[in-house]
Amino acid sequence: MSITAFGALRSHGAGTLRAEHVEQTVTIAGWVDTRRDHGGVAFLDLRDRSGIVQVVADPAASEALEAAHRVRPEWVVRVTGTVRARPEGMRNPSLDTGDIEVAATSIEVLAAADTPPFPVEDRIEVSEELRLAHRYVDLRRPRMAEILQLRSRATSVIRRVMDEHGFLDVETPILTKATPEGARDFLVPSRLQPGESYALPQSPQLFKQLLMVAGVERYYQIARCFRDENLRADRQPEFTQLDVELSFGDQEDVIGITEQVLAAVWRETLGVEVVTPFPRLTYAEAMARFGSDKPDLRIEGLELATLDEVFADTEVGVFKGVLAGGGSVVALALPAGGDMTRREFDGLVEWAKRRGAKGLAWGVVEPDGSLRSPLSKFMSAAEIDGVLASTGASAGDAVFFGAGETTFARELMGALRNHLAAERDLIGDGFAFCWVVDAPMFEPVVDRGEAVGTTAWTPVHHPFTAPTPEWIDTFEASPGEALSNAYDVVCNGYELGGGSIRIHDRDVQARVFRFLGISDEVAEERFGFLLRGLAHGAPPHGGIALGLDRLVMLLAAATNIRDVIAFPKTQSGACLLTDAPAAYDPVALRDVGLRLLPAAPKS
Ligand code: ASP
Repeated sequence: MSITAFGALRSHGAGTLRAEHVEQTVTIAGWVDTRRDHGGVAFLDLRDRSGIVQVVADPAASEALEAAHRVRPEWVVRVTGTVRARPEGMRNPSLDTGDIEVAATSIEVLAAADTPPFPVEDRIEVSEELRLAHRYVDLRRPRMAEILQLRSRATSVIRRVMDEHGFLDVETPILTKATPEGARDFLVPSRLQPGESYALPQSPQLFKQLLMVAGVERYYQIARCFRDENLRADRQPEFTQLDVELSFGDQEDVIGITEQVLAAVWRETLGVEVVTPFPRLTYAEAMARFGSDKPDLRIEGLELATLDEVFADTEVGVFKGVLAGGGSVVALALPAGGDMTRREFDGLVEWAKRRGAKGLAWGVVEPDGSLRSPLSKFMSAAEIDGVLASTGASAGDAVFFGAGETTFARELMGALRNHLAAERDLIGDGFAFCWVVDAPMFEPVVDRGEAVGTTAWTPVHHPFTAPTPEWIDTFEASPGEALSNAYDVVCNGYELGGGSIRIHDRDVQARVFRFLGISDEVAEERFGFLLRGLAHGAPPHGGIALGLDRLVMLLAAATNIRDVIAFPKTQSGACLLTDAPAAYDPVALRDVGLRLLPAAPKS
């Protein structure tokens, strides 16, 4: 037996009917999209996953007509009838099935439906809360249904390409031990071992490394990951990654398979040929030129210039102070920005202040090459020449200056680059991929709650990332400079994924733990299984993970991550459909040996 094309209850998909089916008797089934009842004749638009077709019921089939009078939007019906050409002038070119209609001989109600909470159409004006609470209705809307299909096509391409290259799909546990990726863990109390808990994996990182020790050589998984973070607009507490690891390879292999997967997905879902290899930038270059480790390369030009040398002996007070303190002056020229009004410049200064900057200096290049700026009277002619030469600004352009701690100033100006590009429509079309390589191993701890160890440093990637070969012996001595053998893939200013070559030497791994302030004892307790694995013959290995939700967002041009997940959570981590999370069941609590603190605050 083989499965019938549309299920045993139907002969065709509603959206598959065309002129070639005229005079055929068909049976279709689906939801009543709309109903126009003229008494003597009634029209139903019948919708299923394949599309919509018009059904006509008239007195020639009186029972069908009677049923058509009764049905309401979103009822589930099954219609048998004859396909016939629509009369000239009645065709609907905006519908794939618009040349034909189905003249019903019978209409059977399979399920009645409550009045839908909102119309099943793309343009609706309802709150997202209502949509999420009735997600089953929301997902019927054409746009949402299309995204679900797009996502499924993308994962099937991914699986095919991984399979073609010999990657094994291996599942790793969900109930496990903490895997640090810089977030808090979700914990699951254990009933069989009261007082103890599992952690949900922040990623399958440690298991995929152990699979390399196990000789799997090439692994992938479309894996669910869990990170308990304060949610930003583009984050979800549980999300999906394409997780990849390979042995006996290097950065080029990981980059190679990633580019193959992405090129195939873009080609087979959107018909877009992306050019490989993607351009590569070092982290230092990305920060210096674009003020971001995920630069949007659709924005042509608009590169930052670091003006520390130009202003080395400056009389501009703010710049002088910042440079003396070891900071930087970073500039950005905006072509033709001289057309901005004073109010617009003031608005940008306010924008910068809202981002924590003390201010934002600006100037406009005059036709004679001078700079009209509140600061220009403090700048020497040589400095102005230096500004123009470094930023490439010429007559009619605006120049902006950010000054402060170097990374802060660069990130501020990088954000300004994105902001101005969006405001002035300077963002090109299409998809601009790139790799950002050679990121630092460590960064200073800002949020102790999310730090991995107890020292002032925390890993930029994760503590299993290998230093680049020249830093293996010396990373402890210069933690701020040591580079990691890591790579991030970026598209249109989004970090699509990241990975690294791993430490496969147990001693180097132990040194990294120690450097991070993870004592041998704690390392043994938390990661002993990894260290023991590494001591049992670990091949050189590395890998990557790509955020699948983000990837689908790019494919679908969606701006909201919740739109690409069938059953997402809100920004406070709630599922409005099921009402999760829910209050503890006292019996379940007792079973796992826990008691609630009085009035546990609801955050
Ligand atoms: N485990 C990393 C992450 O989830 C990715 C990787 O290093 O492969 O971000």
